[in-house]
Amino acid sequence: MHDELITALRGGLPEGAVLTDPDVMAAYSHDMASFSEAGAPAAVVLATCREDVQHVMRVATALKVPVVPQGARTGLSGGANASENCIVLSLVKMDRILEIDPVDRIAVVEPGVINAVLSRAVAEHGLAYPPDPSSWEQCTIGGNIGTGAGGLCCVKYGVTAEYVLGLEVVLADGRLLSTGRRTAKGVAGYDLTRLFVGSEGTLGVVVKAVLALKPAPAPQLAMVAEFPSAAAAGAAVCAIMESGHVPSLLELMDGTTIRAVNAMAKMGLPETTEAMLLAAFDTADPAADLAAVGALCTAAGATDVVPAEDAAESELLLQARRLSLTALETLTSATMIDDVCVPRGKLGEMLDGVAKIADRFDLTIGVCAHAGDGNTHPVVCFDAHDPDESRRARESFDEIMALGLALGGTITGEHGVGLLKKDWLARELGPTGVELQRGVKAVFDPLGLLNPGKLF
Ligand SMILES: Cc1cc2nc3c(=O)[nH]c(=O)nc-3n(C[C@H](O)[C@H](O)[C@H](O)COP(=O)(O)OP(=O)(O)OC[C@H]3O[C@@H](n4cnc5c(N)ncnc54)[C@H](O)[C@@H]3O)c2cc1C
Repeated sequence: MHDELITALRGGLPEGAVLTDPDVMAAYSHDMASFSEAGAPAAVVLATCREDVQHVMRVATALKVPVVPQGARTGLSGGANASENCIVLSLVKMDRILEIDPVDRIAVVEPGVINAVLSRAVAEHGLAYPPDPSSWEQCTIGGNIGTGAGGLCCVKYGVTAEYVLGLEVVLADGRLLSTGRRTAKGVAGYDLTRLFVGSEGTLGVVVKAVLALKPAPAPQLAMVAEFPSAAAAGAAVCAIMESGHVPSLLELMDGTTIRAVNAMAKMGLPETTEAMLLAAFDTADPAADLAAVGALCTAAGATDVVPAEDAAESELLLQARRLSLTALETLTSATMIDDVCVPRGKLGEMLDGVAKIADRFDLTIGVCAHAGDGNTHPVVCFDAHDPDESRRARESFDEIMALGLALGGTITGEHGVGLLKKDWLARELGPTGVELQRGVKAVFDPLGLLNPGKLF
């Protein structure tokens, strides 16, 4: 079977597209999530065009071999992990920006385009592609669509789903499906485009995307506010949003995260504070907006409010926030990164609850958050070589999700379900929700070949 598969794949693909060296394949077998098992692939295919993808899916259907679509493998839920004897279908070499149209304000791209590369390319036309995950220098548009990625500026500009207008998708049997539009409006039929966003490679392989662009905003000006408690920072977030301000960024780093970032990158952030809010505006008068928001922070209990001098200093602060997850990962031999999103009004409770969970399980849990969205990233730090600590890490991770659901939130705001949160998806959706979602999957992928074992 293995030889038959490799021969069939090579029969319709360019030379060098099919990798079978076990060491090389091992590198493609998993994303960046902990506690998510990965199988050994039978082959890794580096697709270079839509026809390559169609060939892979036809072979997979004929031989009933599972296929795992893959971007840059920066995912944090195991969604891109290989299953045993699967074909890993990497899209990173399909990395052409096919079109940037300033009149319709769209970009047409292949799935392997890196998020930051697209952002820089559209900036040359005075345009912006807003969704900006912290991993934007590595992650791909295909992966962003697969996970429904968010990012720092989503509090003002929204998440990936709001920017995907149309898709070309190769279905499980190799047929090509076009969804959506490239026009400013369009409501023809069910919104299959939206269905694919966040489907984690389980419904089809995205080979082209039409993305909406915005006029490039003015450079943002940022400030930091230090708080003596997470609850006070949470109260400040509520006050800012309630007052009608529209920050282009409203992020939070707790004391553990600040110290980790300082240790890694010598950023000189204030180490004694319990929680730091980072707010930015790209409005006509950002200094005035920051002054108003600074006053709200002070009223909520901030001990210090420091505006950045200019756009360059603001960018440095953003970089500090972008480094948060990576810096927390250096604290111990392993981490589990959670992604619970709660209503903004519950942010303080969520943060306090996470601190109590850390105490109860005797673990370090650093938190950074897209605070303006209520999207927290508690990072459970533990020693993977210590079985008891690993068990406590897993249990605390689960308790954080239970807390999020109890507060009216969701188990994942942007990282997706993958393998890591399968059990929890069922709890969030309930039996009817799961049944209908399985039905949708069966329509697109009746043989269950696309990224099996993920989501459900
Ligand atoms: C340091 C760090 C910071 C991060 N910050 C953020 C953040 O701020 N916001 C955020 O949302 N995420 C963040 N992430 C998580 C991750 O970067 C995102 O989930 C990203 O969207 C994954 O993109 P990728 O190209 O690496 O995809 P992968 O990890 O390779 O794949 C992700 C999922 O998409 C599917 N997929 C990939 N390509 C395709 C395709 N062409 N067709 C169909 N399905 C496909 C895969 O099967 C998988 O299920 C961060 C990760 C790291 C390591």
